[in-house]
Amino acid sequence: MANTENSVKSFSRKIKRELYRVEVREPCCIKSRFKGLILPGAAQITKNEIKVVSDNQDVIGCFVDLSRRLGIEASVKQSGDKNGKYCAKLCDSVKVAQLLYDLDMLDGEGNVLLRAGKIKRVCCKREFLRGAFLGAGAVSDPNKNYALEISAPNKELCEDIIRVFSELGFSLSLTVRKKKYVAYVKNSEVIEDILALLGACSSQMELINIKIEKEIRNDANRNANGETSNLSRTINASVDQIRAIHKIRDTVGLDSLPDDLREIARLRLEYKDYSLTELGKLLNPPLTKSGVNHRLKKIMKIGM
Ligand SMILES: [Zn+2]
Repeated sequence: MANTENSVKSFSRKIKRELYRVEVREPCCIKSRFKGLILPGAAQITKNEIKVVSDNQDVIGCFVDLSRRLGIEASVKQSGDKNGKYCAKLCDSVKVAQLLYDLDMLDGEGNVLLRAGKIKRVCCKREFLRGAFLGAGAVSDPNKNYALEISAPNKELCEDIIRVFSELGFSLSLTVRKKKYVAYVKNSEVIEDILALLGACSSQMELINIKIEKEIRNDANRNANGETSNLSRTINASVDQIRAIHKIRDTVGLDSLPDDLREIARLRLEYKDYSLTELGKLLNPPLTKSGVNHRLKKIMKIGM
């Protein structure tokens, strides 16, 4: 399990590094990426404080950069636990309240709304998802399987994320895991397209390459297990035997054969692609390959 988690983390880390480096300029988009980053990914959002905890420096860096561009300085420190996590905080309560208000994250009574709300512009939808992936997204190691997911602390927010994806043409599903709501997709082509949409193009290429390599390896394995290379030989021999058996059946009849030959003739007709070894295993008691061969030769002589 530890290995799987590490490989999930390493591919996800590459993607996040790419996403962090995607330039964001428009004020609408800066807000939207920030909102996407903190909503599912923040450890805590109150009207006085926003706190993000992560062991990923790109995530922390993204939070600090965006906060600064929105006019608030974040304080960062290494959190006390053993996992090497960082904790970045916005503590200026007046500025935090103003920011949350600007982001449509406060209701009339000053309660924090953990919802995406309406995102009108396409540029902002994409930024919202980019932020959400940075904060709470993961893609599994494509060498093992294909899965992209973004988790959220509540069902409504998870549905918001799925809705934004669907507004951009992507269909994700919802599941619940360890008390978190997870928006996910397992189709490799959809994952490729989402990575392209978010701007993780080199991760997208890596996924495509791994997929092709896997397909070639699977084909080679299928050929290397001996079945395919032996199959054509088996079929050629089988055709001659079957022709002889048909001849016997259509002339003197299979009942004219001694029991041991009749038995193998019937099996040959039923299992046309079986090797002699495989045919022998169907007999009771089983017969060796050379035993089967011996009987079939007798049949061929009769049916000549
Ligand atoms: Zn925008």
